[in-house]
Parts: sequence; C-alpha cells; structure tokens
Amino acid sequence: LSERFAAAFPRSRALFAQAARLFPNGVTHETRRLDPFPIYVSHARGPYKWAVDGQRLIDYFVGHGAHLLGHCPEPIVRAVQEQMARGTHPGACHELEIAWAQWVQKLIPSAERLRFTSSGTEATLLALRLARLHTGKAKFLRFQGHFHGWHDLVTPGADPPYEDLSVPGVPEAIAQLAVVVPPHDLNRVEDTLRRDEDIGAVILEPTGGHWGTVPIRGEFLRGLREICTRWQRVLIFDEVITGFRVSPGGAQGYYQVQPDLTTLAKILAGGLPGGCVAGRADILAWLEHRPGKKRIRHPGTYNANPLSAAAGITALQLIADGTPCQRANAAARRLRNRLNQLFAARQIPWIAYGDFSMVKILPHYHGPRPPEHHGDCDAFIPCQGDVQALDGPKDPRLISALRQAMLLHGVDWWGLGGMTSCQHSDEVIDAT
Ligand code: PMP
Repeated sequence: LSERFAAAFPRSRALFAQAARLFPNGVTHETRRLDPFPIYVSHARGPYKWAVDGQRLIDYFVGHGAHLLGHCPEPIVRAVQEQMARGTHPGACHELEIAWAQWVQKLIPSAERLRFTSSGTEATLLALRLARLHTGKAKFLRFQGHFHGWHDLVTPGADPPYEDLSVPGVPEAIAQLAVVVPPHDLNRVEDTLRRDEDIGAVILEPTGGHWGTVPIRGEFLRGLREICTRWQRVLIFDEVITGFRVSPGGAQGYYQVQPDLTTLAKILAGGLPGGCVAGRADILAWLEHRPGKKRIRHPGTYNANPLSAAAGITALQLIADGTPCQRANAAARRLRNRLNQLFAARQIPWIAYGDFSMVKILPHYHGPRPPEHHGDCDAFIPCQGDVQALDGPKDPRLISALRQAMLLHGVDWWGLGGMTSCQHSDEVIDAT
C-alpha cells in the first residue's frame, strides 16, 4: 500500500522531504500527519480539494470543520476580496465587527455580549478565565475525551488514558485545576460539584467529545443546565465545531438549552481565522473597565480581524435559514447509511455512526447493527454505556492504511470519519 501511495503522490513526497527539515514531524498540525508522508493540496472548491499531484479528492476534513458551505463559496471570496482592497487590519474599531456580532446574536440568542479572539483555543482560555473571576473558584469540571484546544488548562483529560492526567509540559498545579469525569453521568457531575466547592465552571462539547465520538443527548444538556443553575456554576458550551453546523443556532439552538457562555470559531469566521466568547452580559462585564472592580485584560492583535469579519458575516447570512445545515446533515446521514450497508454486505464488522453532519467509523464492532437513520440527530450509540468501545485507543496502523487507501481512491477523510458540507451532493457521497 505504501509503495502504491508513494507512486501516486510523488510531488507530495518531495515536498514532505523539505518540510521534514523545517517542522517537527514535518507538519503544521497534529492531524495532518500521515505515515509515510501527508498529501499536499494546491487548491480546493466545493466538496473537493486537489493534491499537488493532480488528483481531485472528495474532502471530509472541510477545513477542520470550518467549511460548512464547502470550499471557496463565491460570496465569501467576493466579500474577502472587497475588504482586502480596503485594508486587512486597521488596528481600530470598524463597522464589520458590529455587523458580525449582530449576526452571531441573531442566530445564538444566549450571546448577550461577545468578545472576538483569533482562535477556538483562545476562546476557551478566555471563557474559563471569565468563569473563574465571576465565581471566584479556580477549578472547572470537564468531560473525558472532550476537546477544547491545546492550552494548558484543557489538555488534561482530552485523550485516553484518563487515569493519568499528567501532561508533558503542563505543570501539575495547572493540570489539577481540571476535574475530569466521564460523560453521561449527571449524578456524578452533581456529586462532584457538591464535594468540590472550588469548581466554578462546567465545560463540554455539546454533541460529545471530539465532535461526537461518544455522542451526547439533549437530556444530558438539560440536566447540566439545571445542575449548574442550582449550584450557581458557569455552564460553558464549546461550540467551536457545532456552532452554526448542527443548526444555525448551534447545539444550543437545536436542543433549546441556554449555556452561560459559548465558545465559537471555525464556521464563525467563514473559513478564515477567528473565534469568540459569547454569553451573559454580567459575565462578559469582567472584561470592562469599572471603577473599583477587578477586570480581565484581553488584548489580541487580530481580534475581530476585518477579513475574518467579512467572511464570517457572509457565511452566517448564508447559513441563517438552516438550508446548508440540513443539506450537510442529509449528506452525512447518507454516508453513514451507505457505509453501513457496505460493511454489512461485505461482512466487515465495522459501523458508521454520528450525529448531524459528522461521521465516525468504529472498526471491529460486534454489537447490534444500526438502523437506517432519518432525523437530524440520529447517532446510533453502539454500546450504550460502554464509552470505552467508542473512545478507546484505535490502531494507528489501521487508520493510516485506511487513509492511504482512501486517498488512492480519491477521498480525504480523517481516517475514521469526517464532516460534510452542504456541497456534498448525493453523487459525491455515492462516489465515496
Ligand atoms: N474546541 C473544539 C470543540 C474544537 O474542535 C477545537 C478545534 N478543533 C477547538 C476548541 C480549538 O480551536 P482552534 O483550533 O481554533 O484553536
């Protein structure tokens, strides 16, 4: 396989030889690693991207989730080009930041106030600091396998094994601020808050960690809302992936549960860099200068960058009526169903599952078969209660082989799944 892969992507291989002398592991993002080498992409459009070696690839990375609208939608390209000619960065207040925030507020009503950041990682860092100052409590509760970026606070607990929360390079004292519990267990959450008075916030990915590896249900979100209200803790939905993807109002809009703070990025900025913390006015007020009050100092050179604002406004306008989310959901549902039919027909003991526009593959699964899916939110939870089966370690050689094989057949996905855009038509899915 590796030989065929190397023969098919010679230019990518040559570029990687240069990159290996420049970047650790030769890559600029963890998930872009691939053994023996990653592919290099020259351009992208709609559901496709093109390798520098000439192949057109169906894309399920969709810009790490940022391209719900597919690559290079014309209106976004135009909006960014127009803004580009007016200046990339005035280092000043500008009109577009207002329009951008108004669109967020329109789609996500819990966004009473906002602060723009440059990434999702910065957004979760700021949200946790806001919660800390608001409650006067240093710790926060988080869930096993939920991903919130790469800063020191949120790295412990993001990946198995969860027994050992020490992270190389993160001081023990910081790692201990995260109290990590399994998802789905409301009693455990409430017990933990009861026992540990120093926990000020609860943060989660509202459809499950790493975009739904262990899917979460609406009842769990509603339960968390009740518990956080009862114990006066700040509930943070990390909607960096789910925001504007699962519905125009994100997971909170779909499930009708209001968090106190929300972190957003990816689709927010229409495929350009950008993020934000949005939420309760009294919590965001800790960023304000108020006589005699403590405050959080939060500068950031590229906060509310006008190129990102132009792309973001255009993306949110296009997403507002819900059609792109529904199209992407339908595409992912078709992909899950077709994969499961294929696995069954060939007697391969794998399953495809996932919610909304997200597709996960679980290899070597011997439980009940999933039914055909129809609704928007229809994840088949393979082994109810058995989080290990979903979240446990997967064979990296298998994932690498699967990625190489799929690339040879014109598909780029994350190895064990991916996300769809509204441009993934039935033909694209069937070709996959
Ligand atoms: N939270 C979630 C749920 C994410 O998926 C990610 C990125 N994949 C982040 C936070 C971090 O965002 P960024 O990569 O923009 O820093």
